[in-house]
Order: sequence, then structure tokens, then C-alpha cells
Amino acid sequence: MPDTATLEEDVHRIGRELAAAFPSAARHPMRALDERAMDYASQDLELRAALFRFVDVVPACRSLDDLARHLTSFLDRVEDRPPPLSAAMKMADSRAGRAALGAASAAGVRHMAHRFIVGETPREATKVLQELWRTGAAASVDLLGEATVTTAEADRYADRCAQALDELAVVYEDLPARPHLEHDGAGPLPRANLSVKVSALTPLLRPDAPEIGKRDAAPRLRALLRRAKQRGAHLHIDMESFDSHEAVTELVLELLSEDEFRDGPSAGLVLQAYLRDSPALCDRITAWAAQANRASPLTVRLVKGAYWDHEIVEARQHGWDAPVFEVKADSDRNFEDLTVRLLEARPSVRPAIASHNLRSIAHAIAQNRRLGAPDEDLELQVLRGLGDDLQHALAALGIRVRTYCPVGDLVAGMAYLVRRLLENTSNESFLQEQARGVPLETLLAAP
Ligand SMILES: Cc1cc2nc3c(=O)[nH]c(=O)nc-3n(C[C@H](O)[C@H](O)[C@H](O)COP(=O)(O)OP(=O)(O)OC[C@H]3O[C@@H](n4cnc5c(N)ncnc54)[C@H](O)[C@@H]3O)c2cc1C
Repeated sequence: MPDTATLEEDVHRIGRELAAAFPSAARHPMRALDERAMDYASQDLELRAALFRFVDVVPACRSLDDLARHLTSFLDRVEDRPPPLSAAMKMADSRAGRAALGAASAAGVRHMAHRFIVGETPREATKVLQELWRTGAAASVDLLGEATVTTAEADRYADRCAQALDELAVVYEDLPARPHLEHDGAGPLPRANLSVKVSALTPLLRPDAPEIGKRDAAPRLRALLRRAKQRGAHLHIDMESFDSHEAVTELVLELLSEDEFRDGPSAGLVLQAYLRDSPALCDRITAWAAQANRASPLTVRLVKGAYWDHEIVEARQHGWDAPVFEVKADSDRNFEDLTVRLLEARPSVRPAIASHNLRSIAHAIAQNRRLGAPDEDLELQVLRGLGDDLQHALAALGIRVRTYCPVGDLVAGMAYLVRRLLENTSNESFLQEQARGVPLETLLAAP
């Protein structure tokens, strides 16, 4: 049992080292503007709602005039508008003003989307992915598009994923060696890494009939595992809302138990620490990995969970107990407990600790070192656009970091963009607290 006082000292020291390695704000003048907009939105619930409604309708708007009318009708419901938005409302009085406002707001949403989305196709994202690699960060590419409603859509998504695996093999072909991104104590780590969503691989993933969804998604996921194996790539299966988490976990573990996948590919799934049942799920996953006898360990990406608002609303609507913790510190504490359990479950699992919270990350690094493991046996993950500074700091300290890079067009990216904006404007989010200037020692305090 580690001595709590020295653990806390280690966490704070590592947190301070990471914070000192953050790039200066002067490197990203546009980011400061984004942050101001997010700050306005986080302070005012009506403005936040107006922003989300607007972002949601942008892809459907047919003209600049149409865009400006939508924007002003949403903003009309906001009582305390910051001065730049009041000025925008005045512009909408004339036709020329509406065209200018429509163009400016479309550019604004595109700019915001480009902060989180690295290109329309993996090939278009080549420059970003190669630059990340050269500067010491691996990546996992995510093809945007979730919750398909037809078989044709699911086939198309599976084809795009297979093509992405081919393209990624080429993207990473001739890049310089980066030993800490390519190896850990358990063996080689593939350079090419793709994240996929089961809800996009079948239109039939429904909580009332999980077997049907699993059966329908299985052939498409199996084909992707085969392609990843041929290409020497890693395939990661993302986790979505609570109602599909059992089916997704079972599907992944069942397919990886098949004989043809015993010697590859490298693959993984996601554990969400905001779920009250996540400790039991962690036990199931690590017990499976310990007996699976696969050539490469199962990568378990630990996250807090991206669907918190959705789970709370869904549970309230039905009068159910929420499946997620309702106090933020409970999710944070559980995240730390699960971090330790995953680190202790090596070598049959590879823990990938995914967070933008400096405390959660510093805690994982400290616990890994206390267990006597080298830094190379721990992977940290961040999202493009939210974790850029942390990615830079981890890479500067020579710690393996993988950046999750969504690829796709603006329409496919809307659900993703709204989730990221929700996260960035929530008052309880670590990033908001950091942006509000909460002192570092407070940010690093135990949850
Ligand atoms: C590389 C990467 C991959 C990811 N993949 C997935 C994925 O497959 N599936 C998925 O669901 N998410 C995924 N996420 C998102 C992740 O779940 C978090 O939403 C996000 O990282 C924010 O958590 P944090 O630790 O960075 O920040 P923090 O600010 O420390 O935590 C915010 C999180 O705390 C939780 N929370 C907020 N308010 C409360 C409350 N009142 N009570 C209890 N808990 C609360 C929520 O989970 C919220 O997202 C991924 C994140 C990364 C970095």
C-alpha cells in the first residue's frame, strides 16, 4: 500500500513538471479567441444552448442569409448578450449585413471544427499525422460518422475504415524511428492506429436486442480485424452510450477470442470510469485478458466518459437511477482506482490513460513509477484540439502520448463537435477550471 503523503508529493511534482512544459499561449493567438468564446458560453446557459443549436443546424443551412437568420433567432432568446453578439444581431437588419454575418459565422464554425478534426480523409490528414509523429506523438485516427440507420451506411463506414487502414500504413511507412512510440516492455506497438465505433458498423445496435446488433456488426468488425492484421495496424473499438456498452464489450472480447486473431492484430477497447459498474467491468476485462493468451496484450483505454449529460437526461426521463456517478469527484477518484488496477494487470493488458486532466495524468505517471515500471510501459492519450498543450508537454518529457485525431466532413463531425464543445464549456471540466485561472496546486489536489 503506497504511502499517501509521498504519492501526493510525486503527483504534484510531476504535475508541476508537465505544466512547466506547456507551450506558451503566445504560440496560439487564435486559440485565445476560441477560449474567450468558450468562456462566454460556459458562463451563460442560454448562450451555451444557442451556440449548440446553431452549430447543429450549420450543415443544413442552404445560404448565408439562412445561416444569419438561424443565428439571430437562436441569439434572440439570450438575455445577456456579450457586446460582440449584440453587434452581430444589429448586422442582421439588412440583407448585406446578413450575408456578412452568415459568412463570418460559417467561418467561425468551420474554424472551431478544424481545431478538433484533422482533415476530410486520412490521406488529407497525412501532414498533420506525420508532423505529430516527428514531434514525438503517435495518433489514433477516428473516422467520423456514428449511429448508422441503414445497412448500406454500415457497409460504407466499414469500407471507409478498411481503406483508412490501407492509407495509414502508407502514411507511416517512411517516417523516422521513434523508439518510445513503437515499443514497450510487452513488445512492438503498431504505428498505424484506427479507432472505430460499433454503432456505425450496424444499424441494429439497440439495448432491447443486443444479440441482433452484435450479430450484425460482427462480420464487418471481423473483416476490419483481418485488414488490421494484414497491415500490421492497431484497431481500437470506442465506447459509446451506456445502453450499448455491454454489447460492445462482449462483441470485442468474443471476436478477439477467435483462433484467427490469437496472434494479431493489436486491438483494444474502452473502459468508462464514470460508470458505476466500471470496477466490475474492469475485473471482467482483465480476467479475460489474463486467460486469452493473445500475442499482443489487450489495450484498455481508460476514459471518464463522453456521454455524461446524455446519460443523466435519459435516466431522468425514464425515472431510472443514473448509471453514471453524479458527483464529479467520484468519477475522478474511480478513474484513479481503475488506473492502478489496469497498471497492475500488465502484461496481459496495455493501459492507455486518456484524459486532459493534469491531476489524472500526473497520478497515472506517479503510480506507474511507484510500481517500478519504466515510463515506456504507460501510454497517455489526448484528443486533438483539447489536449494539444498536454500532448506537447508529454512529448517534451519523452513520455508516450497518442493523440486521437478525428477525420471526416463537417456534417459527419457535428455530433463530435457538439460533444467536445459541451465538454469544454462545462463548469466542472478540468479544462474550464484551468482556463479560469484556478491555481495549479488546487488543480493538482486529490479528488
Ligand atoms: C484519446 C481519448 C479517447 C476517448 N475515447 C472515448 C470513448 O471511446 N468513449 C467515451 O465515452 N469517451 C471517450 N473520451 C472522452 C472522455 O470520456 C472524456 O469525456 C474527456 O476526456 C474528458 O475527461 P477529462 O479527464 O479529460 O476531463 P475532466 O474535466 O477531469 O473530466 C470531465 C469528465 O468528468 C465526468 N463528469 C463531469 N461532470 C460530472 C459529474 N457531475 N459527476 C460525475 N462525473 C462527471 C464526465 O465523464 C466528463 O467528461 C476519450 C478521450 C480521450 C482523451
